Parts: sequence; C-alpha cells; structure tokens
Amino acid sequence: MKHIKPAVDIDRIENDLYELSKFGFNPEDKGVYRQGLTPIDMEARHWVKQQFEQAGMTVHMDGVGNVCGRYVPAENPEANERPAVLIGSHLDSVPAGGMFDGTLGVIAGLECVRVIKENNITINRPIEVIGTSEEEGRFGGMLGAQALTGNLTFDWLESAQDPTGEYLKEALEKCGFDVHQALHARRDPDDIRAFLELHIEQGPVLEIEKKPVGVVDGISGVFKWLIKFVGKPDHAGTAPMNMRSDAFMGVADFAHELSRIIDEEGTDYTRLTIGRVDLKPGFAHTIPGEAHFTLVGRDMEKEVMKQVALSCNKVLSSIARKHNLKFTYEQLSWIEPKHFSEQLIGQIEKHAKDCELDYMRMPSGAGHDCQFFTDLVPTGLIFVKSVGGISHAPDEWSHWDDIEKGSNLLLRTLIELATED
Ligand SMILES: [Zn+2]
Repeated sequence: MKHIKPAVDIDRIENDLYELSKFGFNPEDKGVYRQGLTPIDMEARHWVKQQFEQAGMTVHMDGVGNVCGRYVPAENPEANERPAVLIGSHLDSVPAGGMFDGTLGVIAGLECVRVIKENNITINRPIEVIGTSEEEGRFGGMLGAQALTGNLTFDWLESAQDPTGEYLKEALEKCGFDVHQALHARRDPDDIRAFLELHIEQGPVLEIEKKPVGVVDGISGVFKWLIKFVGKPDHAGTAPMNMRSDAFMGVADFAHELSRIIDEEGTDYTRLTIGRVDLKPGFAHTIPGEAHFTLVGRDMEKEVMKQVALSCNKVLSSIARKHNLKFTYEQLSWIEPKHFSEQLIGQIEKHAKDCELDYMRMPSGAGHDCQFFTDLVPTGLIFVKSVGGISHAPDEWSHWDDIEKGSNLLLRTLIELATED
C-alpha cells in the first residue's frame, strides 16, 4: 500500500483497543465479557466518552447508551448546520468475545478525528463517531442502531427480555436510562450525509483470498423458521422399523437435502443451517414422536431467498409424507438483504486504488450496525481480514498492518465526504 499523508497512527489505535479490551477482560479464558447494558459496558462507554472529549469532540450519550462524539472545527462553525458524516460500530461484546469486534470501528473513527484535527483539515460538515449500544443481541435486536434509525417500537422496548428473563426496560433503568427516552434517540436522515463502518470480517474469505481489506457491497438477508415434525412416540424395541413415524428421521432426511436445495436454487452466498433440534419425548428408548427444529437461511438476493424457502417447504412436505409425519412451520423472522450505495462503494474503491491497496469487493454474511442505515442514507462498510476467520471468541485477531490499511481507507473516504461542498 502506498503511504499517503495524512495517515492514522496505528500505535494509538493499538493502545486504545488494548485499553478498551480491559473492560470485561477475563484472565482465565482471555475473553472479553462486556454484554450490552451491563455495569462494565457502561464503564467502557464512560471511558470512550473521555477519549472523544480529549480528541476535541462534543459528546453526549443518548437514551439507549449510544456514545456520540461530534467534531466541528472551531474555525468553521457553520459546518455544524450541515448533514454530518457518521462513523459507527458497537462497544458491547458477546460473552467470551474478542477485542476487535465492534470496537475497531469506534476506535478507528476516533483516530480519524484526531488526524483530521492535527492536520488542520478544513471540513465542511460535522463528523460524528458513535459507539453503538447492545449490537450483539442480548435482547434480540441491535438496540443502538435501531434506535438511531427509528427502527424501535414501544411494544418491543416494553417486552424484550434477555435469555435470563431480565427485561430490556429494567436493564436500561439500571444503567440510568428511561425507556421512554429510547425513542428520542432517532436521528433525522436529513441530518446525515453518510454512515461509514469499519469492522473485522469475522470470516475466512479475505485470508483465503490473501487480501487485507474488503469493500462490502451488501449484507445477506436472513429468514428463520421453527419447523415441527409430528409422528408417533413408540417403544424403540417392539416397533418394527417399517412401521414407525419417527420425527427425527424426517429431520435427518431434510438435513441431507440442504446442499441439493442450494445447488438447485441457491448461489455461492446461500447458507442453510439447522442450529437447534429438540426431540420429544427425548428418551433413548423411545422413538421420537416430535422434532422441533430451527432453519436459518441466508442469501444476498431476495428472489433467491424466496426460491430457496419455497424449495425447503416442498422438500419438507415430501419428507413428511414419506415418514408418515405431520409437518408445520412458523416463520419467526424474514429480513431482506441490504445493498449498499453504489456511489459510496465507488468512492471507497477509488481511494483503495489511489493507495494501491489490494482489496476485494465482497458481501457480508453477518449483520452489522450499518445495515439499518442503508435504506436512509448512503452507507459503506469496510472489512479488515480476520486471522483464521475467527470471531466471537478470545482467539479473535487481526494484524495491526491490516488494521492500519483499513483505517487509512476509512480516513481517506471520510476526508472526501467531510470536505466536499
Ligand atoms: Zn460486530
């Protein structure tokens, strides 16, 4: 990569990421335990708030815990009236998570502001760095990004619970927030010029392709079904094999069909996963009378998702007939794929080429904060290579020189967007 100035100081990024990882670090398994809306998560947010302030930003925490640092240069106060460029990612982690997931995007955004300030770059609009709240789904959503983009309902805020049964509204109150304020975190899209996110890939593609950085062009859509096969529980010794209605045999047959369904109806980006199976009665000497299992499907195109879903439905009903089972399914969720702004992708690619950065375009199989912005404002996502593709685990790692490249690409894109008239 060609060294173009100004550039980020990778030592500062490294230092900040290590400091941030201390909030919730467990020396036993070396994992970060910083789930959203917990005391340690709030401590981390206050630390980030201080860093933003030291970098010359005006900081506030909104009603769901998003830490928002806004930078407008003193010599150009009128810039404050114009739509801002937002850089955001999340500060919470999964239990036993790594030190880069989410945090990289926030710390790189902070570093970009420092560089712009130190180099006296005159920007014509505000830059806002946002450390979003509860992205990992402790309460089943992406709270911070949903709040910013108006994708929250009061019913959900009232009813959402974490797996231990704690209510979201209680967790908000414990952190000093009022659930009634959550809806006020919404931003007017007219006040936003663009949303940028830098994130680790969390998958193996960049490493396999030997690329340090990916320019993401979209995020997979995802559907989630709960499927039930109902047969007949019976004695595992006396019921002959040809006279059974064994619900698990239905699941096994279906699992075998998944790769064929993808070959016939899917694309390279289609994924089908059976992540959970519950058998009833679940006793070693009884034929399973019922099987309840989940199916999660993903693809980059809505039409492909529909075809794959239709094919799954057909295969499930023919398997049910074959094994003499009843079959029902419930669609728990259907989220459409998101495609990022071609214009912004083009701007990011132009800077990658100017720097002679060896990048590739790619989709994202995982969801990210930025996906909620795609329908509202130009949105861009840059990936940094993950070593071994590992994430959501203590072994999560990215090389500092790859992080430097990704951060400089973010910086160049940010400078272009923030200095335009
Ligand atoms: Zn993440």
